[in-house]
Amino acid sequence: MNQHERIEFDVVVVGAGLAGSAAAMVMAREGLNVALVERGQKPGGKNYFGGAIYTHAIEEVLPDFMERNPPFERPVTEAGFWFLSQDGLMRATVQGGNLDRSPADAYTTLRASFDLWWAEQAQKEGAFLIPKTTVVDFIREADGQVIGVVTDRPQGEIYAPVVIICEGVNNLLAQKLGLIDRDLEPAHLALAFKQVISLSSETINTRFGLPDSEHGLAVSVLGDVSLGLPGMGFVYTNKTTLSVGLGVMLDTLAEYKLKPYEVLQRYLAHPAIAPLVAGGQLLEYGGHLIPEGGYRDMPRLFTGGAMVAGDAAAMVNALHWEGTNMAIIAGKRAAETALEAHSRGDFSERVMSRYEDRLKDGFILQDLKQYRNFARFLETHPEFMGTYPVFLNDALGNFFSAYGKPKRRLFREILGALTNRRSLPQAAGDIISMGRAVMGW
Ligand SMILES: Cc1cc2nc3c(=O)[nH]c(=O)nc-3n(C[C@H](O)[C@H](O)[C@H](O)COP(=O)(O)OP(=O)(O)OC[C@H]3O[C@@H](n4cnc5c(N)ncnc54)[C@H](O)[C@@H]3O)c2cc1C
Repeated sequence: MNQHERIEFDVVVVGAGLAGSAAAMVMAREGLNVALVERGQKPGGKNYFGGAIYTHAIEEVLPDFMERNPPFERPVTEAGFWFLSQDGLMRATVQGGNLDRSPADAYTTLRASFDLWWAEQAQKEGAFLIPKTTVVDFIREADGQVIGVVTDRPQGEIYAPVVIICEGVNNLLAQKLGLIDRDLEPAHLALAFKQVISLSSETINTRFGLPDSEHGLAVSVLGDVSLGLPGMGFVYTNKTTLSVGLGVMLDTLAEYKLKPYEVLQRYLAHPAIAPLVAGGQLLEYGGHLIPEGGYRDMPRLFTGGAMVAGDAAAMVNALHWEGTNMAIIAGKRAAETALEAHSRGDFSERVMSRYEDRLKDGFILQDLKQYRNFARFLETHPEFMGTYPVFLNDALGNFFSAYGKPKRRLFREILGALTNRRSLPQAAGDIISMGRAVMGW
């Protein structure tokens, strides 16, 4: 190529993660010339999550996804919470009902294979993947209008009238554009770390009470996971591996001088968790940040010629482990806005603002707004991570024990197990605060 030749596309998408490849897929299908720039050797190489991915979002972008052999592990046929005390486990999970359908609502997967497949679908629609390339800056006109990106390659400018930023949690580019003026606060970032542990599918089925490999489990684990500090664990069953890990708020790790690996080892050694992973071979260990601040940490979502989607815009609902679906749908909404801009030949901030309108119409902005106080609630109510899971274990353990004493005494003891830890007015206040944080009152 002539070194003076200008590289031009209709759109540049930064990051071939879930948001980026979704955006690229939608636009390329409609005939736009899309550059999908990914810093990794290949998409997914460094991406990490729990986790389970939701089909409603995949289907909205790729209606025939099941015919394209997605690299799913297991359908999620059992989901819920586990509450750990020091030596006990109370399970509150659900099976059947909404979880018993095909395709399932969610599938467990591993990001190295899923993201690669997801980006391949974008390429099949015509997007041009540029791997091993990091976007480091923007090309802007004097009035600030974005007209392209600068990459870390020699003569690495790529011109396009629209840039969609899907760079994930490290929102350096969003900061560079002035869409947000700060790093995310450690109190709003969870450092999540996990192990992928290999076991035979028969062992997984037996240990988790699953009839076969067409059934899978996804649970959030609360209580004696994160030493009673703000944090949550998870267990996901894959075909022949388990994904087991936990997330703890970054400020907590620093304050208590906790080493992530030690917290994870402690969790894996818990008497209820250790037998589930026993004899397994460690295949992977990794960590990743989760932007849990949600609505209050969102950057401005657009400017002239640019939009930001997914983790880069703090689009995560931590309580529901929803991030992948928000990233995919936000990528699609940004793509629809880019298509509209191209059809009008107008890339101004006014047209880019239609992206936010689209997000307001759906679950993403509505949910994030509703849960806007949830991160603060977790910060101020650590008892939901420690006291209550332990109480639930004690209470149920007592309820189902025949001590040979009058039940009236038993109930007094159960109540005592609560009030020793939290007075009744405090407990009532906690429940109301949780209701407020979840309902957005
Ligand atoms: C441990 C853990 C468990 C989770 N579990 C779940 C779960 O079970 N279900 C769920 O829905 N969500 C879960 N999440 C959240 C979910 O993973 C994220 O919300 C989702 O990955 C966000 O997608 P994204 O496309 O915005 O960002 P990412 O998936 O992070 O993709 C960003 C991409 O951009 C690339 N990139 C970054 N900067 C540049 C640059 N400058 N130039 C070029 N490329 C760049 C990166 O290499 C990456 O490929 C979990 C997260 C973690 C950490």
